[in-house]
Amino acid sequence: MVDLTTGFSRRQFLASTSCFGAFHAIAKFIPLPALAAELAGDSRISQGPFVDKGFASVRKVGNGLYATISDTSKGFQTTCNGGFLVGKDAAFLLEGFASPAGASFQLEALRMVSPVPVQGALDTHYHFDHSMGNSFYGANGVPLWAHAATAKRMVDAYAPLQGAEKETVLGPFEKRVKDAKYDTERAHAQSDTDAMTSIFAAANASILSLPNHPLHPAALPFSIDLGGLTAVLESYPGHSGTDIVVRVPEQNVVYTGDLLFHGLYPVCFDQQATISGWRQTLKKFAGFDKDTLFVPGHGQVCGQEGIASIREVFDDIAGQAEKMYRAGVPVEEAQHRYVVPGKFKSFPIWAWGFVIGPAIAKLYAEWKAGQA
Ligand SMILES: [Zn+2]
Repeated sequence: MVDLTTGFSRRQFLASTSCFGAFHAIAKFIPLPALAAELAGDSRISQGPFVDKGFASVRKVGNGLYATISDTSKGFQTTCNGGFLVGKDAAFLLEGFASPAGASFQLEALRMVSPVPVQGALDTHYHFDHSMGNSFYGANGVPLWAHAATAKRMVDAYAPLQGAEKETVLGPFEKRVKDAKYDTERAHAQSDTDAMTSIFAAANASILSLPNHPLHPAALPFSIDLGGLTAVLESYPGHSGTDIVVRVPEQNVVYTGDLLFHGLYPVCFDQQATISGWRQTLKKFAGFDKDTLFVPGHGQVCGQEGIASIREVFDDIAGQAEKMYRAGVPVEEAQHRYVVPGKFKSFPIWAWGFVIGPAIAKLYAEWKAGQA
C-alpha cells in the first residue's frame, strides 16, 4: 500500500491500525449532533434517551431495539456506538467499546429494560474502539461474537504496542512533522501523531480479550432468534475486512458498525479497507427500504439520508482524487491536496493520515490495478 506508512517498519505499520486514539485528539470538542428533525416523527424512536451518562446515551429505536450512542466530547468510555436487541427469551449486545467501563454501562442499560439472559455480545469489527472493553464481557460470562478474523487482527494490531518503547512507535510520526515541506503537510502529520499517541496510551491501558464465537463469512448471513425478535448477521466489505452488520428486517433497522460514519469523514486507513468495496456496500444499503433506520458506528442515528451523505463524501474524495490521478499528481502529494468542500466543513476528520490520505492512496492503487 502506498501511503503515509511508507518507510515505517511492519511493526510500526501494525501499530497504526486503530481508529480510536484520534478521538482523543480531535473529536474531543465536537459534541454529538441532535437527532435529525426528519426522525422526530418516527414512531420507532423514543425522542429522548432513557439513560444518559454523557459519554453515551441509550434510546429505543424499535420494538426491543436500542441504540447506544457515544458523545466523545464528554468522555471516551464507549467511543463508538453500539446497542442491544431484546427478545422474550434472550438479549444480544453490540460492541465491546473502547473500555470495560463502556461495555459495563451498556449491560447496565440492558438490565434497566429486561432481565433476560444475554446470548452474546458482538464486536462489529476488530478496531480498538469496538473491542478494548471485551474483557468486561469475558469476566461476566457473556460469549463474544465476531468475524472469524477478528481475534488475529486484534493481536496483530495491538499486542505489539503493549510494552513497546513510546519513542519507537511515535518516532516516525514525529519525524514526518519535522520533515514536512509545507504547513498543510505539517498539520496533517501532527494530527496523525496525536492520534498515534492516544492509540499507544490506550493499547497499553487495555487487556486484550479475544472473541470466542467466530463467525465465518461462508456461514453468513446467520439468523438469531431472541424470542419474537429475529436478527440477521451479515458481512460486507469496506472498512476493516472484519465488518459484520446486524439487520432486523421486520422493523427495517440496521446496526452498521463502521461501514457507516454519519456526519464524520469515514476512517479508511485499514490495510483491508477497500474503497470500491465500501462504496458498493453503501450502494446496497441505499437499496434497503426507504424507511430503514441506521445505527452507525459513529455519529447520530439516521435514515437513508445518512447513507446518501457518506456516499456523497466518497464521491467527493474520489472525484478530487481522480482529477489529480489523471493530471499525474504523485500519490504522496495527492494525499495532502484534498480540499474539504463547504457542505462537509462540519464533518470531523479524526486524523488526516487515518482518513483522507489512505482513501486517496487506495483509490490510486485501485485505478492503477484497473479495478475501478
Ligand atoms: Zn473502525
